[in-house]
Amino acid sequence: MNTEKFKNNISVILVEPQLGENIGTTARAMLNFGFENLVLINPRDDWPNAYALKASAGANKVINGTLVFETLEDALESFTYAFSTTIRPRDMVKPVFGLEKMSEKVFQKTERNEKVALVFGRERSGLTNHQISLTDAIIEIPTNKDFSSLNLAQAVILIVSEINRLNVSYSKEEMPIPDSFPAKKGDLISFFDHLERALDASGFLKPLEKKPTMVMNIRNMFNRSNLTDQEVKTLRGIINALLRWPSDTMDNDKTKRIKVIAGGNDKNKHDKDD
Ligand code: SAH
Repeated sequence: MNTEKFKNNISVILVEPQLGENIGTTARAMLNFGFENLVLINPRDDWPNAYALKASAGANKVINGTLVFETLEDALESFTYAFSTTIRPRDMVKPVFGLEKMSEKVFQKTERNEKVALVFGRERSGLTNHQISLTDAIIEIPTNKDFSSLNLAQAVILIVSEINRLNVSYSKEEMPIPDSFPAKKGDLISFFDHLERALDASGFLKPLEKKPTMVMNIRNMFNRSNLTDQEVKTLRGIINALLRWPSDTMDNDKTKRIKVIAGGNDKNKHDKDD
């Protein structure tokens, strides 16, 4: 699914919500994931509600568009499919969906332009069996069985976030490197040669028979770091700075030696990049 339009076919229904804050945080959670249709059934306090508006943190779009009904029956009139949400086992023959199966079902329904309702219960007592009987299926969020009841808006966010997966991948893995690019192999190899000449000169690559393995390990170490072009320049600057140390002993000989180690007059001059 590559459009967000299907979200227009989904509504969140809060049955007899008691706290304006929970209505507000529900609106916020919904808009965070691109859902705008909020319905209230007989809220305890007056509507519109200042606490709800404040807690919605700018989700005014959702708050201002909220519809209010007297009963769940009235609100469900125009829907073709309704989920109720509860973690309490009910003694009734009705399908119970986990989050993944729920969103598969939502996909099937909304793809055919059907209207889907997600029904949530009141803070203190949840949904009544009668209210659940008006719905097609139950969604259970698999919480800790010894402490299973979620805050209302948190229950909403878990469900709308799951549905959001239908058009957004949740398995993103990337490493943004603004203003720089992965180093080219040629620059990396020049850096390795530079480093190895410096390590040779300082007596690190000994004994001789171990040198090939040591060199290989060092190259692998840096290859694993996915260096950027700028990082390679910085590393070459670091080598030069260390070779100059202590800087008050700089003379022509030393300057010449550092240049040779850096690659003499090859086109990659990094003496100034420290
Ligand atoms: N004390 C109530 C629960 C109230 S929590 C009870 O015992 O039923 C408020 C609402 O959040 C619930 O009515 C339900 O819609 C939703 N909710 C909370 N935890 C949930 C869970 N683990 N699974 C599904 N819905 C949940």
